[in-house]
Amino acid sequence: MFIRKTNTNKPKIRTTIFIPGEYKGLKNISEMNFKSDITIIGAGVVGLAIAAQVAGRYKTIYVLERNEKFGQETSSRHSGVVHSGIYYPYGSLKARLCVEGNRLLYELCRNHGIGYRELGKLIVATNDEEIVQLEELQQRGQGNGVEGLKMISKQELKKLEPNVEGVAALLSPSTGIIDAHALMGFFAARAKEGGAEIAFGKNVVGIEKLPDGYKITVEENDRDKFSFDTRVLINCAGLQCDKIAELAGINIARAGYKLHYCKGEYFTVGNGKSKLVKRLIYPVPEVKGTGLGVHVALDLEGRMRLGPNTEYVDKIDYAVDSRHKDSFYNSTKRILPFIEYEDLEPEMAGIRPKLQGPGEEVRDFVIRDEADKGLPGLIDLIGIESPGLTASPAIAKYVAGLIRNIM
Ligand SMILES: Cc1cc2nc3c(=O)[nH]c(=O)nc-3n(C[C@H](O)[C@H](O)[C@H](O)COP(=O)(O)OP(=O)(O)OC[C@H]3O[C@@H](n4cnc5c(N)ncnc54)[C@H](O)[C@@H]3O)c2cc1C
Repeated sequence: MFIRKTNTNKPKIRTTIFIPGEYKGLKNISEMNFKSDITIIGAGVVGLAIAAQVAGRYKTIYVLERNEKFGQETSSRHSGVVHSGIYYPYGSLKARLCVEGNRLLYELCRNHGIGYRELGKLIVATNDEEIVQLEELQQRGQGNGVEGLKMISKQELKKLEPNVEGVAALLSPSTGIIDAHALMGFFAARAKEGGAEIAFGKNVVGIEKLPDGYKITVEENDRDKFSFDTRVLINCAGLQCDKIAELAGINIARAGYKLHYCKGEYFTVGNGKSKLVKRLIYPVPEVKGTGLGVHVALDLEGRMRLGPNTEYVDKIDYAVDSRHKDSFYNSTKRILPFIEYEDLEPEMAGIRPKLQGPGEEVRDFVIRDEADKGLPGLIDLIGIESPGLTASPAIAKYVAGLIRNIM
């Protein structure tokens, strides 16, 4: 439990002292020599998954979230797809953690009543060149351990999806959709059951290295500040993860941690068209592309939307530019001829925390203990873009392994 003391001598910037329940009454954090075991910055799907994974194994675990609820940022602005792991380079963390996360997520959904549907997905080729790319994708996916991938002919495609046009397709049966909010609710509940505390409205504004851990300074309600110590600090701050790494003393330019924000917008498909496909339908991705291509996403209520596109931006702004409707329409009409211009309405947008800048090579997730930068016990998670939702339970297991090596 958080109990705070307020120094009333300074009415404008009040200093609040963080005192865990059992130390109630002591004035100063250093007097009580209190140190939490683990502090996680960020209650998105990744921070919550880690809290759920380690709760019960360590005495004091805090999750600090600047918003008033969990999952208010990227973790609620995505396609909600449980990816299978086809696209990512062999041996990369993205590939390994996506394939493992896919299996773990379905297990969690089945065992704990989290909404999901294993719909399957088709990546559709529109010419011979794209068929070659699909074959390469199939090989890559198989190398990554994705099961059930199958090339299908034009005729088989027509049988499965009569309203989709293409010359061939790659079928990925283990791709699906999930109720991400319910998943986060599950992780939060499991973390709390294990004794972890999730504290909202807590913005981390300072990190100071101590001989055996870190001093964290937190701002509440944009005014009050308090500090406490932690042995292990886990940076799951999503779009702010590079800034948190910088606060901890990392030169983010040298480390290659500077994020590039890459916006992805969605348009809903109305006029009763959503029943015209049964699976998730994707185009063949561009080589060295920044996304998977504008695709058909379906949600658990059966609503259809198109997205996300990719646009590098300087700031976080979730408005959808209605002028992009033309490019959405043009990019999908080849494989989805039933979609008409007037069916599309702007819906929402998310922002990818990308390490890959415009025109650059694809980058992997960074998930590491920063001991070699002189910061042991700081675990950074940088660039957790897609497939971060899918990979979340596998990321949590991976991070639990890093913590075991520290404590
Ligand atoms: C357009 C789009 C589509 C996607 N589609 C998919 C998909 O279909 N399937 C899939 O697997 N993945 C998908 N992803 C990726 C997935 O959404 C993310 O990888 C995942 O949500 C990242 O979760 P997170 O917890 O790391 O980050 P976030 O959800 O961003 O959480 C980070 C949290 O940290 C908090 N925070 C930041 N700074 C501070 C601070 N100083 N103090 C306290 N708290 C702080 C924030 O408030 C936030 O709540 C998509 C992403 C985008 C943008």
